[in-house]
Formats: sequence, C-alpha cells, structure tokens
Amino acid sequence: MPEIDRTVMPDPRDVVVVGGGFAGLSAAVALADAGFRVAVLERKPKLGGRAYSFKDPEGGDWIDNGQHVMMGCYTQTFDFLKKIGTYDKLVFRDRIEMEMVAANGERGRIKAGYLPGPLHMVSALMRYSMLSFGERVSVLKAGAWLIAQARLRRNRLEHTTVSAALKELGQSDRACERFWYPLAIATLNEEPDKASAALLAEVWKRAFFGRRRDSAFVYSKVGLSDLYCQAAEDFIEQRGGFVAAHTGVDRLELDGNHAVGCVRLRDGKKVEAANFISAVPAGALLAMLPAPLQDEPFFTRLTQLRPSPIICVHVWLDREVTDCAFVGFIGSTTQWLFNKRAIFSERGSEQGGYLSFVISGARALVERTNEQLLDLVLDDLHKMIPASRDARLIKALVIKEKQATIAPDCESDRLRPGSDTPIDNLFLAGDWIQTGLPATIESAVISGCAAAAAVKKRVGPISPVPVLE
Ligand SMILES: Cc1cc2nc3c(=O)[nH]c(=O)nc-3n(C[C@H](O)[C@H](O)[C@H](O)COP(=O)(O)OP(=O)(O)OC[C@H]3O[C@@H](n4cnc5c(N)ncnc54)[C@H](O)[C@@H]3O)c2cc1C
Repeated sequence: MPEIDRTVMPDPRDVVVVGGGFAGLSAAVALADAGFRVAVLERKPKLGGRAYSFKDPEGGDWIDNGQHVMMGCYTQTFDFLKKIGTYDKLVFRDRIEMEMVAANGERGRIKAGYLPGPLHMVSALMRYSMLSFGERVSVLKAGAWLIAQARLRRNRLEHTTVSAALKELGQSDRACERFWYPLAIATLNEEPDKASAALLAEVWKRAFFGRRRDSAFVYSKVGLSDLYCQAAEDFIEQRGGFVAAHTGVDRLELDGNHAVGCVRLRDGKKVEAANFISAVPAGALLAMLPAPLQDEPFFTRLTQLRPSPIICVHVWLDREVTDCAFVGFIGSTTQWLFNKRAIFSERGSEQGGYLSFVISGARALVERTNEQLLDLVLDDLHKMIPASRDARLIKALVIKEKQATIAPDCESDRLRPGSDTPIDNLFLAGDWIQTGLPATIESAVISGCAAAAAVKKRVGPISPVPVLE
C-alpha cells in the first residue's frame, strides 16, 4: 500500500473506508460509482465481515456463518447487487412458506396465497392452523395496530418491549408462542421481553404487510461471500480505488480539532484521504478513536449498545429427513431449521441431509460447549421431526457469533447514531447505525449509502476518476 506524502494534500475525491462488510463495501461502491477514489481497509484476510461463507473442505457444501436470509423488501441491498452485477445470483421464493412444528406433533403452515399484498399475508394467517380462528383474527388486528403505530406514534413503541406491546394488544400466550415470538426472535435477534416493539412494527410493516414481493425469502444461489465481495472489489478497483484485506486500522489521527488527517495502520503505515467512513462495529470504532475523542459524549454513549449472539449449528446426516425448506420449531430452544438440500440446487459431493439450525438471541447459551449445543439441537430435531431419529450423524459444525448484532432493545433506538459525527470529515456506517431497522444486511447497506451520500454532499461536484475497462 502506498504511503502518501504528507506534504501533498489529499485529493478531495480520496475517501478511506474502514471495514469491508456490507456497509463498507456498499459505501465504497456508491462513492466509486460517483467518481471518488476509494481505499477500503479490512482487518481480516477476507472481505464480508459478519456475513461470510466458506466451502466445506471435505464435502464441498457452501457453509454460511449464520444462514443469512434476505427479504424481498431489501431494496437497497438489491440496488447494490445490481450495481456490482450479481443480482442474478439471488433466488426469490416469492410465495412465503414456513412449516411450523411443535413437540406434541402438531404442525401448521404459514403459506402466502396468490392474492396481491398485503392480502397474501392475510390469507396466509387466516389459514394458519396452529392458531384458533379467534386467535388468527386477533393476530391480524394486532398487526394492523402495530403498523398504524409505526406510522403515527413510533416514539411510543420505542419505549415498549415486544412482549409488553403484545400483551397490551390482548395476544394470548399461544398466539405469542406459535406466531409472534418465532417471528420476532428471528427478525430482531433478541428475546421478546427485551426487544423494541418499534422494530417489530417496522419489520411487520415492510416485510410482511407491504407488496407481495416484499415478503419473499431471498437467498444467494452461490456462497454468501461470492455474492458480493469479489464483485464489489472489482467495481472499486476499476474506478481507481483499492481494497486491502489483512489491513487493520489501529487508529484515526486528527488533523486539528475537527478533521481526521489519516488512519494509522497496525503495521505503522498511514493512509491519508480527504474524507473517512468508519464501517466497523461500534466497539471497533471506539478502539480506533484518538485520545481527544475518547471522552466525547457522542462516542462514549456507544459503549451502552449491547451485543446479541446467534448460534448456528450445521449438521450433516446420512439421509434427508424433511423436504421442507424452512421449519420453525415451536416451544424448543432451537428456533429454525434450514434444509440446505431443499434451499440450494448446488450441493457438494456428500449425498445425505445437510441442515442448519439457528438460535437467535442466544445470550443464555453462548457459553455452552459445542458438544452441549449439538446435543441440544439434535434432541430438538428428534422431538420435532421423528423421521430424524433413525438418521446417522455424519459430522457437525457449531458457529457461535457472540457479537452477531447489537441487541435491538428499547435503549438502542435512542443510542444508535446517524452517519454524521462531531468530526467534519468522519462519517459512520454499519448495521448498528440508526436506520429504523433491526441490524440486518439491509440496515448495513442503507447506512453505507447514507454515509456515501454525506461524503458527496460535503465534497460537492467533482471531476470523476476515469473508469478502467
Ligand atoms: C450468525 C448471523 C446471522 C445473521 N443472519 C442474518 C439474516 O438472516 N439476515 C440479515 O439481513 N442479517 C443477518 N445477520 C446480520 C448481518 O450479517 C449484519 O447485519 C451485516 O453483515 C453487518 O454488516 P456491517 O458491514 O455493518 O458489519 P461487519 O460485517 O461486521 O463489517 C465490519 C468489518 O470491519 C472490519 N473491521 C473491524 N475493525 C477493523 C479495523 N480496526 N480495521 C479494519 N477493519 C476492521 C471487520 O473485520 C468487518 O469485516 C446475521 C449476522 C450473523 C452474525
């Protein structure tokens, strides 16, 4: 990486983006597209941050660190992928269909009808057999109320937890256990008695009660990293920028009181630019701050954002035990099963079943050993899907993401900052920035685009860096 001569003021088109996850890459791509010269600096050997995949060296299956699912309402993510040319690597399951099972053998299906949105979800819920007719009507009424509150009185919901809001709306324990809580934990990554009702209302409004296409389950046909990392890097480099992995930023260095002058790398080198975007998690940002900013209230309040873990257990069996793609487990510790064989057409050389189990909001379990977690998941699988009892376990992999996302509690709404900081040329991106959404891929991309827009606004018109063919 070139060390830039300190006597030469950086070109106003030069931007350093720290962090190569969805937020950093989407910010860098938006800026490169607008003619800026961008340097993306990533600490790890590979891009992708908390959304990455790798190929199983033995069987060849693609393993995602946490079975990432996007939804049809991830419009800014889709725009980002269209720009870098990989949108066609997505699969849209337009007709949402989830199998729900309980340990007593009861089963039900949430399956969207062919009606236009949001009637497709009304029909899906009205046919959901795990709830009584009265409970289904009550769920729909509560959903309508949540959407109205999200539009009219969001700040009231910001101070209410999901469980308190549902209680106030008269939702029965059964409706919570069999519908609301599985939905809330999966989309918010937090227990309902801590998660903010405002965020649930936003998800409900955007994902389930918008257009029919908004509620589609969307996933990558290729490994998650292959969906966006290399294509984003190529896009940036063709426009005069560069992407450096294995390049951790040690700290930001100030130039006067109100501007960052350069980033100092872990190997002591420095990289200058006219503008800087931090696209790292909040804790990593705090670690990069120079001494004068460490007591600045704008930054110190970020220490109050709490993390929420996700555990993903990947299991290979000697046979397939279900043909459903997604199965929600009701009343067990394991929450969702993703049947990789039904989701992906591509498979490695292994023939049997490949299942991924997800436990979100897993604070109480994350310190358990991998063996304990595998036992727990298999126990739940055997209870929920009896056909699995005869299947032989071939191998398993447990991935614990202790800092998977920020906890979307009521406090977090107040604590999440926007893109601007008290430093004129430092902007923030990351799924944890205030986007009105839970910390998701879409939130990361929205924040990246917002930080890029803030840089563009600050710099004004530029003569673009030429594109290399
Ligand atoms: C297990 C799991 C399952 C998930 N499931 C879903 C899902 O189904 N749907 C969904 O939408 N979202 C899901 N998410 C959330 C989603 O992965 C994140 O919201 C998103 O990836 C965050 O992107 P980001 O760019 O904000 O942060 P990150 O991906 O964390 O990127 C930040 C980058 O900064 C780098 N960095 C940190 N410090 C430095 C430094 N000093 N110098 C240089 N680089 C640095 C890091 O290495 C990292 O690559 C899931 C997350 C996890 C962990």
